[in-house]
Amino acid sequence: MANKEAKSKMVVTVLGCGTSVGAPMIGMQGLPQFKNPKNWRLRASLLLEPAGRGGPAVLVDTSPDFRQQALQFFPKMPRLDAILLTHTHADHLHGLDDIRPFNFVQKEALPLYAEPQALEDVRTKFSYIFQPTQEGGGKPRLSLHPVQEKPFRLTACADPFLHHLEIIPLPLVHGTVSCLGFRLGPIAYLTDCSYIPPTTIAKMQGLELLILDCLRPKPHSTHLHVDLALDYARKIGARKTVFTHMGFELEYEAFKKSLPRGMVPAYDGMQFRLSR
Ligand SMILES: [Zn+2]
Ligand SMILES: [Zn+2]
Repeated sequence: MANKEAKSKMVVTVLGCGTSVGAPMIGMQGLPQFKNPKNWRLRASLLLEPAGRGGPAVLVDTSPDFRQQALQFFPKMPRLDAILLTHTHADHLHGLDDIRPFNFVQKEALPLYAEPQALEDVRTKFSYIFQPTQEGGGKPRLSLHPVQEKPFRLTACADPFLHHLEIIPLPLVHGTVSCLGFRLGPIAYLTDCSYIPPTTIAKMQGLELLILDCLRPKPHSTHLHVDLALDYARKIGARKTVFTHMGFELEYEAFKKSLPRGMVPAYDGMQFRLSR
């Protein structure tokens, strides 16, 4: 019974909701808005715990702030079972080396899921991981798993509970590069996009929670700006929409007040408990 109850829960934690330089950008920390901790934003990342807090965990993106995010927001006995990578821009990938403590504790390689081209980028950018150099505990232990357009299951995870979960990849356009969003049950995470194809929108019926890119008020070539993000949010029609990947231009309180019902800006450490 207790087990059944645990399986019905999903905890989602926003580990970071900032744009690529974070907020404040270096040098801006003296601005009045940064007296509010909700305007301090680490780089964008999400933690999904499909069986409730302290159960198996799926990390979306290894941001350059990953170590700090894990220290700050993970439970005392953290566990990591899989990494989903949206794309390979530095602000979503460059904390990859900091998964090593999970390798030490769990004594297993971590599966990383991404598009085939993104996996190639990982092999290039982190070539030392895949070369026979540097013995000892100095390198992350990873297994790489290509994601195609079809839904997939996390069958490479050590925890068999995760083998039953279906992840739906959500192809996005991010300027001139592709990026993946992910849907897990009632939740969809769409960071870094400038256009959401209709075929992707069709895969987001009946969402409880949509976490969506929203960089700043002014249009941008590779990200959604406020008006466009609101248009997509209405079109997708999730019960709740949370905006992420925000720059310093979006002051938390003012932005929150400006938003329609059911839409809010994220803040680092924001958490949701949902039933699956
Ligand atoms: Zn980004
Ligand atoms: Zn990006």
